[in-house]
Amino acid sequence: MSYGRREPREMHKAVCAECNQECEVPFKPDGSRPVYCRECYARRRPPRRNRYRY
Ligand SMILES: [Zn+2]
Repeated sequence: MSYGRREPREMHKAVCAECNQECEVPFKPDGSRPVYCRECYARRRPPRRNRYRY
């Protein structure tokens, strides 16, 4: 992996696997794992609880 692209933060369009809304994520969705929007992502990651690995 090499950083130092033109844009500091490259956003990729994706569809949230939770609410099915179009969103943008700072990483490239590779299709092997579900993508979540910010809200769903935060909802799925509680501050400190059981660490389910899905
Ligand atoms: Zn969502």
